[in-house]
This record gives sequence, structure tokens and C-alpha cells, in this order.
Amino acid sequence: MSETDQFDLIVVGAGAAGTIAALAAARRGAEVLLLEKSVLLGTNAQLSGGFLQAAGTRYQRAAGVEDGPELMMADIMKKNGGVADTAVVAEICRRSADYVHFIADHVGLDLHLNKTIRWYGHSVFRMHAGPAEKGSELVAALRRAVAAEDRITFVDEARVAGLVVEQDRVAGVTAGIGDGAAEQLRAPGVVLACSGFGNNRQMLAQHCPDALTATYIGSETSTGEGIAWGVAAGAATDFMSAWQGHAHVNPKYGTHLSGGLPYLGSIMVNVNGERFAREDIGYSELTPVILGQPGGVAVEIFDQRIVDALWTNGVFREAYDAGAVHRFGSLDELAAAYSLPADAVRRTVHRYNEGVTGAAADPFGREPSGLPLEAPWYGSLITGGIAHTQGGLRIGPDARVRTADGRPIPGLYAAGGTAAGMSGVGAAGYTSGNGLSHAFTTGLIAGESAFAPVVTTA
Ligand SMILES: Cc1cc2nc3c(=O)[nH]c(=O)nc-3n(C[C@H](O)[C@H](O)[C@H](O)COP(=O)(O)OP(=O)(O)OC[C@H]3O[C@@H](n4cnc5c(N)ncnc54)[C@H](O)[C@@H]3O)c2cc1C
Repeated sequence: MSETDQFDLIVVGAGAAGTIAALAAARRGAEVLLLEKSVLLGTNAQLSGGFLQAAGTRYQRAAGVEDGPELMMADIMKKNGGVADTAVVAEICRRSADYVHFIADHVGLDLHLNKTIRWYGHSVFRMHAGPAEKGSELVAALRRAVAAEDRITFVDEARVAGLVVEQDRVAGVTAGIGDGAAEQLRAPGVVLACSGFGNNRQMLAQHCPDALTATYIGSETSTGEGIAWGVAAGAATDFMSAWQGHAHVNPKYGTHLSGGLPYLGSIMVNVNGERFAREDIGYSELTPVILGQPGGVAVEIFDQRIVDALWTNGVFREAYDAGAVHRFGSLDELAAAYSLPADAVRRTVHRYNEGVTGAAADPFGREPSGLPLEAPWYGSLITGGIAHTQGGLRIGPDARVRTADGRPIPGLYAAGGTAAGMSGVGAAGYTSGNGLSHAFTTGLIAGESAFAPVVTTA
């Protein structure tokens, strides 16, 4: 690698957004330099559940699910309280099927539509996943596709120090490669795809103080410097207070349960053995509610039917295999294991089952499903976590980074967690799947818009 190497595009960050941006540009004929901070330390995409929100896919069509960008957008805008850049959200929804098909066709991951869980806020089944339903298989497939692409030069352990800005246009990055000193690496386009700032306590304190008590479950590498580089080049930021909470984090085990549990019928009780919320309001919105309980913890209670339904879910299986999920023959045993008052737990479950069967209204407004909880019981100690942040550099529908007065900064693109998301403000506006769908779609768009020529195939 030297200052004389010629690249059409430099992509910083090889997670969800960066790899698809690099692959999309390379397929159009671009010579791409893909700079990664640390494969060893990992990415949020790798830690994720690997669930891909998209509307109008061939998988939905095959399953007879009627969906489209308008419905997806309406769902997202309902959950975020109408607070997002509507032009960007509309474009992400319009292109969402494209990124799913790209992953299937050009990354080579065998996808399916998950019909086990109707995620909160999704009017129809719209989550797609690979066979193992976990992010690590997704990232492994993306990395294999990058390795197979001759036009992508992939550099791990790159020490990117900032952008090269000349006469108001971004012309490359300054980076140290291997043992070498920092040098200018030049290209007419730069995509910042280096995640958000979930692992930067100072930025969290400034922008998301409500997340400071949450357990961080994201990647070590999400430290926010990409956002700082964009701002230094004149970019505006949007929705910096937005973050994705996770309401099913297992303290001590380093695992988390599937966010889909409540949609299958789980409940949560606090140390008093009492429910405290409608558990199916969305795992992000629920996070501060759990953190507000005594000790900031709760016990999630479910049953064999739910365990069986989640058996294909990679994240749930990891928690189960790590020993974070326990099986009990009676509610009294469950209560004793978590030091909960047994009479309160029995009363709470009985009351919930009355709501489920329609015998009485649920105290928190959950809909009757006709599926009461029953023995054998399963329990897991949980707390609230923060997975990643959703605010970042202002972009347009073409993923070009914008100034405060709306002008694109020539040569600069942002995607994924480095760019502003579509989840409003705080933790409550996050619709399931907003993370990866935003990252992959903005990455795809950035890779395409940063390098226009299309490869013609015979
Ligand atoms: C536990 C967990 C579960 C989740 N589950 C889901 C889910 O099921 N569905 C969903 O839609 N979303 C989910 N998400 C969110 C999703 O993972 C993120 O929204 C998505 O990965 C963001 O993509 P990204 O490319 O911006 O960031 P990442 O995937 O984190 O990739 C960023 C890359 O940039 C690199 N990088 C960082 N700084 C630099 C630098 N200075 N120089 C070079 N490289 C750098 C990082 O090392 C990393 O490789 C989950 C997140 C977590 C943490």
C-alpha cells in the first residue's frame, strides 16, 4: 500500500454497511480500498441477531405475504413518532428488498423469511435471516464475498486518523497501515461505515445520558470517530440521542435472549414477583423500564412451547447453551431460584393467563393469544442493555453526507451507524430490524452512488 496506489473508493469499516458498500461498488467496476479497524475486536453486525427487515422481497412473495415500502415506512414512522428524515426512510424502505436479494445473490447466504415471530411494529412478517439466525454467519458470508472480489483491497488493523479534505471536497483518508507511518490514501470517494458510538462513554454522556446505566452489549470498535471526522469536514448530525436498547440481557453470562420472546408469550416480573409493563412494546422501548425496576433487573418467564419455537434462533440458543436459561417443574421452584416471593409469582402468572385466554383484560393491555403459560417453566435473569446508537452524520437519500444547510459534501458518504438512523430520539423509537436494514441499504446506496459506472455482463 502506498500513496501512489489508485482507488476509486475508500470504505472505512468492514461491518454490515462497509462490506456491502465495497461489494456494490466493486460490482460496478470500482477499485475499492476497504479499511478495517480490527477483525479481532469485531462488529455489531457479528454480534447481532442477523435479522433483516425488508419489504417486498421474493421470500415474502413466495410465502404469500403482501408487503411493500409504503407499509414498512408507515410502521417505522409510527414507532419513531414521526421523527426521522422521511426522504431517507422512504428510500431505505424502497431499496430494502434489494439489499436482501443482494445478500442472497451476491454474498451467497441462504436466506429465509422468519415466520415464527411477528416482531413488534411489523404489520406483516418482514424479518429475513440465514440458516443459523445469527449475525456471525452473516458477517462470515460477507467477508468471504469480499475475499473473493479482486477489485477490493481489504486491510485489517488499519489506523485511520481522519479525512483528507481539499478545497471543500473529501479526497481520501490519512491512515497508518501495518507498521507504516500515517500516510495520505487518496480516492475521489470515501464512505464512512465505521459504526456509531455505543462504546464511547463520553459521547454517550453527551448525547444519550439515559443509556449510561444500560449494560453495553455491542462491539468494542464502536467508538464514534467516524462521526467526529464527518463533523470536522463540515457535516451536520441528526438524532444523536437515539439508541437501540435490549431488554433481555443476561447479567453475568455475557449473553442475551432473543428480543422475540414476548411476541411468543413471555412475561417479565421484578424482584417483587410482579409484572411492570406490557412486555411486547418493543425490546428497545422496554429497556429503560427494566432499568427502572428495583436493582435494574427482572426475571423473564416462559414455557416449553416458547423454547421449542425459538430453537432455531441462534442468539437464544447461545444463551441457552451458556446456562442463562433454567427449567423448573413448578413456579415455586422458579421463584426460589431467583429469590422471588412465590405467592406473588403464582398470582402474577395466573392473572396473565386470564388475560391471554380472554377471561379478564390484561392489566397492561396485552392482546389475548389463547396461549396460556404452563409447566414446565423456564426463567432467565435479565437486565437492560444498549446494543448500538442510531444517531450520526446527516445524509440524503443518496447517502451523501450533508452540511447543516443541506449541501452534500463532495466525495463524502456515510452509511450504517455512522449516519443518522430512522429511530427518532431516545430508545423508544426503534423498530425491530432498523439497525441492519438501515446499515445494509445505506451501504448499498453509498457503494452505488459513490461509483456510478455499471459493469455490463455478457
Ligand atoms: C447485540 C446486538 C444485536 C443486534 N441485532 C440486530 C438484528 O437482529 N437486526 C438488526 O437489524 N440490527 C441488529 N443490531 C444492530 C446492527 O448490528 C447494527 O445496526 C449494524 O451492525 C450497523 O452496521 P455498521 O456497519 O454501521 O456497524 P458494524 O456492523 O459495527 O460495522 C462497523 C465496522 O467498522 C469498523 N470500524 C470502527 N471504527 C473504525 C475505524 N476508525 N477505522 C476502520 N474501521 C472502523 C468496526 O471494527 C466494524 O468492523 C444488533 C446489534 C447488537 C449489538
